Amino acid sequence: MELMDLLGLQALLICALIFVPLEHILALRPQQKTFRKGLGTDVIYALVNGAFLKICIFLMAASAMYASASLVPARVTMAVSGQATWLQVTEIIILADLGVYASHRAFHAIPALWRFHAIHHGIEELDWMAAFRAHPVDQIITKAVSLLPVFFLGFSLESIAAYFIIATGHALLLHANVRMNFGPLKWVIASPQFHHWHHADQRDAYDKNFASHLAIIDALFGTFHVPGSRMPEKYGVDESIPTDYVGQHGYPFVRRTQQGRNTGDAAIKPTPEEVARG
Ligand SMILES: [Zn+2]
Ligand SMILES: [Zn+2]
Repeated sequence: MELMDLLGLQALLICALIFVPLEHILALRPQQKTFRKGLGTDVIYALVNGAFLKICIFLMAASAMYASASLVPARVTMAVSGQATWLQVTEIIILADLGVYASHRAFHAIPALWRFHAIHHGIEELDWMAAFRAHPVDQIITKAVSLLPVFFLGFSLESIAAYFIIATGHALLLHANVRMNFGPLKWVIASPQFHHWHHADQRDAYDKNFASHLAIIDALFGTFHVPGSRMPEKYGVDESIPTDYVGQHGYPFVRRTQQGRNTGDAAIKPTPEEVARG
């Protein structure tokens, strides 16, 4: 693999050619700049962390396929990889997104995991590049939970490759600064509106919309929150996340006195409105 392929510089430029104009045409917040605060950091995430993640996924795939050869009967893996590619891709999306849902929900519910995931929620200006900002521990655990079963079951390489292209494109669209809702399909497929609400720094939207492709998973498990055509007023978290790349990587490991929303303290404390109501 060439260094350029590993860094994914070409792929990032292609994404920029698609999403920068799209954000201009369908801008949710037209005043938000393309070169917004923290964009440089997110470019490093996309290239450096992206390359590291690719290596990790490659190692995961190799070990899962190796284990699968001795644990899963050949007739099963052959039946799986023998299906039409579109059917395999659909199955991978469902299987992987169930894994994303479970691990994403755990990252919100367990305080020790939230500290890693808070990095992704620290973004206050959502756009397509924001999709790349995630702590490596968050990314590796999420990818392991969602992709190991896929590699284990023996799906064909071309259907896995197609899934990766769809998953990346969808992730960037979900974060993009675009006004786009999917009408009644919002109950089935994750829309930018759906994921923007996941990033809302508003109490009624906390711990909602965990899926990355299929909103129907949230609908089935009671965590779906897409109020009409409304969009959140603000994004982010109440804790102060470092603005620099190194600080963000160290953040989960630093002891703090300040408590975030999922560290136990914020969940118990009443809001000012609740205090006023008595
Ligand atoms: Zn989250
Ligand atoms: Zn996100």
